[in-house]
Amino acid sequence: MTPNQTDRYPYVLPPLPYAYDALEPYIDEETMHYHHDKHFATYIANLNKALEPYPALQALTLEQLLARPSLPPAAKETILNNGGGVYNHRFFFEHLTPPAEGKTSQNTAPAERINKTFGSWEQFKKEFTETAMGVFGSGWACLALTRANELKIIPLANQETPVAKRARPLLLFDVWEHAYYLKYKNARADYVDALWNVAEFGA
Ligand code: MN
Repeated sequence: MTPNQTDRYPYVLPPLPYAYDALEPYIDEETMHYHHDKHFATYIANLNKALEPYPALQALTLEQLLARPSLPPAAKETILNNGGGVYNHRFFFEHLTPPAEGKTSQNTAPAERINKTFGSWEQFKKEFTETAMGVFGSGWACLALTRANELKIIPLANQETPVAKRARPLLLFDVWEHAYYLKYKNARADYVDALWNVAEFGA
């Protein structure tokens, strides 16, 4: 990520680091246009708008903003919803990779830590998939590195982030319908299954 693009006010929509059709056949070109150019862009625009009256909050990084114990009551919900949307989508799009590069979830995972925590890759994949399928309505499945330096699978509702818990994401699946509905319709399981081919782990 280029500094100041999505790290601080005024937030700017970072271009996709690959072509819109580069994730075919797992994620289709039309979905990538809507998801990145419309949904992600809207979170950025709304976050900037919400921060307009608050110079002190504009000076914070996105993580500092999201981890802040208190925010102005009139703007709190808007800032957390849209700031969370920016944080989650920034990670999500940065960690998708064209299948031609061969960076699947499994071969970018910290294998030893996964095995130690979950027993095996297959067991981790099963538990993470169950979490992704279990999110009611809109949200995310997240493998987070906690403040205690442990790996933990957590469901995130709407645009919650792990940041408030001082955890950071290692793997993040967007299970909002806007992420899959054009291609997969209601079949979230098929979309989640496809994501393992193109979603890489963060460091
Ligand atoms: Mn999304």
